[in-house]
Amino acid sequence: MAGESDDRGAARAPHVALLSSPGMGHVVPVAELARRLHAEHGFTATVVTYASSDSAAQRAFLASLPPAVGSASLPAVPLDDLVAAGAAIETLLSVEAQRSVPALAALLAGLGKDGSLVAFVADLFGADTLRAARDAGVPAYLFFPSNLLMLSLMLHLPRLDAELDGEFRDQPEPVRLPGCVAVPGADILQPLQDRTSDAYCWMVHHGERYRDADGILVNTFDAIEPNASAILRQPEPGHPPVYPVGPVIRQPDNGDDDATGCIRWLDTQPDKSVLFVSFGSGGALSAAQMDELARGLELSGQRFLWVVRSPTDSGADPGANYYDGSKSKDYPLKFLPSGFLERTKEVGLVVPSWAPQVRVLGHRATGAMLTHCGWNSVLESVMHGVPMIAWPLYAEQRQNAVMLHEEIKVALRPKVRGADGMILGEDITKVVNDTMNSEEGDAMRTKVTELQKATRSGLAAGGMSHKTLNEMVAKWKERTFA
Ligand code: UDP
Repeated sequence: MAGESDDRGAARAPHVALLSSPGMGHVVPVAELARRLHAEHGFTATVVTYASSDSAAQRAFLASLPPAVGSASLPAVPLDDLVAAGAAIETLLSVEAQRSVPALAALLAGLGKDGSLVAFVADLFGADTLRAARDAGVPAYLFFPSNLLMLSLMLHLPRLDAELDGEFRDQPEPVRLPGCVAVPGADILQPLQDRTSDAYCWMVHHGERYRDADGILVNTFDAIEPNASAILRQPEPGHPPVYPVGPVIRQPDNGDDDATGCIRWLDTQPDKSVLFVSFGSGGALSAAQMDELARGLELSGQRFLWVVRSPTDSGADPGANYYDGSKSKDYPLKFLPSGFLERTKEVGLVVPSWAPQVRVLGHRATGAMLTHCGWNSVLESVMHGVPMIAWPLYAEQRQNAVMLHEEIKVALRPKVRGADGMILGEDITKVVNDTMNSEEGDAMRTKVTELQKATRSGLAAGGMSHKTLNEMVAKWKERTFA
């Protein structure tokens, strides 16, 4: 097994193996769950990643975990056939998991030799590995790194697929899932937007396979999705028990240095004055959209800290940096409009490709975040009491944006003009000013501060997320003595 490292700590502490799909947005919460199982419950753990997703950012992050949380990486499997055919990222991640089942089974067999392996946990694209774990006699769980809206969609997808006539975006009525905000068909999960695509078929397949899990841990918390949680927590034949155990978010000291000087710069700014602009671990904009964002920020006159990525060449694939967004292929700042850096140097800091996001969000100078609505970013923002501007790009981000804006009311959305989805500078200026400096912005700040408190009490002893993880862990520990 490539790159295996494992310090199992005390003899025969219960051990959990957790498989993360490629991408920091997956590795971070999976590894943090492992860290929490160790810190709060005395488990040892192996975080299993794919060699294909190896990156400096990922290595630094995994190296920062405690010694009792080891890591192993599954060797690369051939995916050239799919890459050559232009397969979507969801297809690549799903096929990679499926083709890696033999290597995973061998790894689990090795980890199981001393009898301490009490559970296997896979994340959302790893549904095909659940059976391999069960065949090896290990209870198999899913860790769902998104919210209950998305989980509910996945669990209902086989039925929706059977009933739907035409594409989601053409449905006259929004999609209504039990206890969840109504989502217009066009805002539903991006790979579901073309029902003839491989990516669509894979998502339906995963929705079916999730039923193989002994339980589903979800990176959300009751106070942010109270109605969906009340419904999904009810045992129901045909779906595994659901455990909202979040937020499981990255710790600020885990592999996050300040190489780009973000924190030093924030130290010189007034309290809650800076808009943090980031599109997640891999998101990027088209060159034209990047120009408009620069123009909008400049016109607003607000302070900002912008993590800039090189534009997607054609503007057609905003997830181009998926496997390693920290390494843009070009120096991204050269794509900014001429003179922008000079004109905004008194109020703005622009950093290439990567920022220590959790430290930035936790900084007293950060007042709001313009985010692509990746669920980790949302949780990190909420946990630090930071309101948002929702700028979704791909995956389930559009439905997250609907939820944040319409239901939870902790985000504003810029106006989108025209069918090409372009957001103009003037509209960016408006949403930035409204967020930083208006009654609407203040109302969002109040709401997000309430949720921040709820995350803290939920994770503290006796809180809902804490109790839910305890319940899960008690089941796993029973196996140690079985
Ligand atoms: N992240 C970071 N610095 C960056 C960009 C992203 O530390 O410059 C981290 C961020 O804190 C979060 C993860 O990468 O933990 C991104 O996950 P998310 O679910 O928000 O989006 P994804 O990257 O999966 O689209």
